[in-house]
Amino acid sequence: MTDRRRALPSVDRLLRTAAVAALGADQPRTVLVGAIRRAVDEAREQPQTAPLDDAGWAAAVARALADATTPTLRPCINATGVVIHTNLGRAPLAEAAIEAIAGAARGYGTLEYDVERGQRGSRHVHCADLLTELTGAEDAMVVNNAASALLLALATAAEGGNVVVSRGELIEIGGGFRIPEIMEKSGARLVEVGTTNRTRLSDYERALGEGALGRRGLPRSGGRTARRAPAVARKTSPPERTAILKVHRSNFAMIGFTEEASLEDLVVLARKRKKPVLYDLGGGLMVDLSDVGLTGEPTLREAVRTGATAVVASGDKLLGGPQAGLLIGGASFVKRCRAHPLARAVRADKLTLAGLAATLAIYRDPARARREIPVLRMLTADRAELGERARALAAQLPASAGAEVVETQAAVGGGAFPGTELASAGVAIPSPEPGALAERLRRRASPVVGIVGRRRVTLDVRTVRPGEEAEIVRALAQALG
Ligand SMILES: *Cc1c(COP(=O)(O)O)cnc(C)c1O
Repeated sequence: MTDRRRALPSVDRLLRTAAVAALGADQPRTVLVGAIRRAVDEAREQPQTAPLDDAGWAAAVARALADATTPTLRPCINATGVVIHTNLGRAPLAEAAIEAIAGAARGYGTLEYDVERGQRGSRHVHCADLLTELTGAEDAMVVNNAASALLLALATAAEGGNVVVSRGELIEIGGGFRIPEIMEKSGARLVEVGTTNRTRLSDYERALGEGALGRRGLPRSGGRTARRAPAVARKTSPPERTAILKVHRSNFAMIGFTEEASLEDLVVLARKRKKPVLYDLGGGLMVDLSDVGLTGEPTLREAVRTGATAVVASGDKLLGGPQAGLLIGGASFVKRCRAHPLARAVRADKLTLAGLAATLAIYRDPARARREIPVLRMLTADRAELGERARALAAQLPASAGAEVVETQAAVGGGAFPGTELASAGVAIPSPEPGALAERLRRRASPVVGIVGRRRVTLDVRTVRPGEEAEIVRALAQALG
């Protein structure tokens, strides 16, 4: 070992080696030198695997070069069956959206330019008309993501004041981000009401002050909370800066001894007290999917119809568009949001706006939306057709792979329709070391991400896009061969 280490070549000597120099033909010299350094460093750290000759060194440098030049963010094949897979980039886009984004990226555009007047325009016009047309809202704006839409709506409604929210809705939305922490960054103080499993309308009424208590015939004696909450609210909140927030439980379900105030009831209460109600819906569903068994998630139109001051949702979950945050609701409130200083900090870029507008335009024809928006197509895919695709994929694999067509349980993902499983189909590859097989499928220029089972790796075809099968076959041939 020591001998090998002592014999490590210098970077200069390797650079002069024909096979190594050839690798750098279409790379900047600095990149080649960096790769050589890494190959030599690696040999120093792991002398037992150090290359022994020039051919070995060329192979080691080629690997280091491939590592350095393969983008960390690159397309991969989602064979997990999780349709809105946050780690894999959530929604794949419709062709029309991809074209719109490419068009916006290539040259200049009318992002903030009014062609009729030949003057500066506003980026907020691009999706607003489509959003109001499709949801029935008075006005709408688009920002970077739903978290920033929530931040902006809260800051506009209750900065320096209070925001009343149920303890059952203080959720974590993934990646360690928690709604209460986002809320506090808006400058609004959280007033938690109710308990984890039960929150009543009267809990909100008390937190808003005692005005309506008794008038609606609600009991005044709700225990300790009843006496404490109004005192807190009175001390710290000027009444005009208080808002109610309702958060849709999008990524978990609560069952058993539960109770919550409906958004409709909260809207009635808030109107009486002249307070805004914000609704964080999350998913952004635009069409009813109950015919495929996906129920319990309100559409954006339904959420708007309740009369909430503003509804907040993501563009890249059930809506199936690019990452974006939708803030839709009453005209005067949305106008105030646009004018808030935070609006500039969270504004959407031209690529997002182009992709979102093109996606929204598809929804004008709901049947077309189901055909052309990949998220909807995957969610509504027919089980028999999925079985057929799994069989076709298995048939392309060598018999030695031992592939088996299996029934699987796919999921909506993205924290939408929690607990709903979609009967799906896949190809299972038996393996004594499924973790190692899955890793070989993953660690390639074109990664294939599957499901690691007890003694097999399963590839669910629901989320495999048509045309990706050939790459899966190649990946399996390499991984098993
Ligand atoms: C997903 C989600 C968010 C965050 O949405 P992003 O677009 O990822 O910022 C916020 N609230 C709810 C209820 C969600 O489901």
